[in-house]
Amino acid sequence: MSKEYSIETKCIQSGWHPKNGESRVLPIYQSTTYKYETSDEMGKLFDLEKEGYFYTRLQNPTNDTVAEKICELEGGVAAMLTSSGQAANYYAVFNICEAGDHVVLSSTIYGGTFNLLTVTMKKMGIECTIVDPDSDEETLNKAFQENTKCVIAESIANPALVVLDFEKFVKVAHAHGVPLIVDNTFATPINCRPFEYGVDIITHSTTKYMDGHAMCVGGAIVDSGNFDWAKYGEKFHGLTTPDESYHGVIYTERFGKKAYITKATVQLMRDLGSIPSPMNSFLLNIGLETLHLRVPRHCENALKVAKWLEKNEKVAWVNYPGLKGNKYYELAQKYMPNGTCGVISFGLKGGRDVSVSFMDHLKLAAIVTHVADARTCVLHPASHTHRQMNDEQLIEAGVQPDLIRFSVGIENAEDIITDIEQALTYI
Ligand code: PLP
Repeated sequence: MSKEYSIETKCIQSGWHPKNGESRVLPIYQSTTYKYETSDEMGKLFDLEKEGYFYTRLQNPTNDTVAEKICELEGGVAAMLTSSGQAANYYAVFNICEAGDHVVLSSTIYGGTFNLLTVTMKKMGIECTIVDPDSDEETLNKAFQENTKCVIAESIANPALVVLDFEKFVKVAHAHGVPLIVDNTFATPINCRPFEYGVDIITHSTTKYMDGHAMCVGGAIVDSGNFDWAKYGEKFHGLTTPDESYHGVIYTERFGKKAYITKATVQLMRDLGSIPSPMNSFLLNIGLETLHLRVPRHCENALKVAKWLEKNEKVAWVNYPGLKGNKYYELAQKYMPNGTCGVISFGLKGGRDVSVSFMDHLKLAAIVTHVADARTCVLHPASHTHRQMNDEQLIEAGVQPDLIRFSVGIENAEDIITDIEQALTYI
């Protein structure tokens, strides 16, 4: 679709362009396989000499159509869907890293990504240096090694709500000849398009705002096409030297700007197989059609709730980058002036037990292990996602023991506030 369409139009129109007499709505290609007239034709697909579908573990038309929409929303050149956000972050890194390599990781990144890198990928021989995203350039520079292959951070960190200083991170990553990978799940392309600030690769847990209805776990990787892999050919040899599993294809030579996503699809997806089901991609596409309507409403509601909480005497602290006076307010204004996200965090006077008791009395906001969907929901990381940690460990991980992660939905803001108000009367 033409790049001149606005993001709102892209949410609705990008991806599926039916020809005369075809289904107006994106069809669900619920098929594992695809038929060919000759054996030779199918053989060419296996050699990557011809484009086409042959097995859904690698590619599927419904999935590809939705990937194309997300690609256009982010302003990239190529994208792929994965079965989860975890798989997206794993593939995004593993596509350019192998045993003996090193990654620079923001300390405030989502706990699942943190575990993926520091526990599971460590077992695969990939080491990490963890950096405080607020560090100055000099400190960040010290984290890089000869074998560093990428930097990974979040545009808005879950649940710390740290807004990334894109300019600083792009500068240090590029100074060391490596790409910056940014997980843009919380901001979404409606509020922030990291490629405009020089980010190279974007990942998403589409499970969150993109789906928007808590229906399907999913992920996406988008490539800006801007990182010059060939310039650092030796470092990124998986992209710049022959892949023997495809009769010696060199991804950068054969696929140009689409080299990174092509390799991730034909190599990682082939071998590791975290493809989403076409049904889930169909549902994700429905979510994407209203992303531009839902995200501003989430932000508007979150700001109202955050302002109300700030004034309440039972509330000890409120963290929302959209609030004036927040540590990340200026960065948020610079990189996401139309809004940040619908997630806020706060603590209550009296600490951890009071937070738990408050949550138990909420009626409209549900206690769920989820965030960023249409319905207001709430979670206490110290009791749920981080419950194996003691208070000291929690603070080290940037999670206050009393922190309530409150994901503001798109209901009426006054109703959400009334719910909080009634629950506060019990504490
Ligand atoms: N990235 C972020 C920012 C997340 O919040 C999450 C999940 O909460 C993930 C990645 C992992 O995504 P998924 O749960 O879809 O695997």
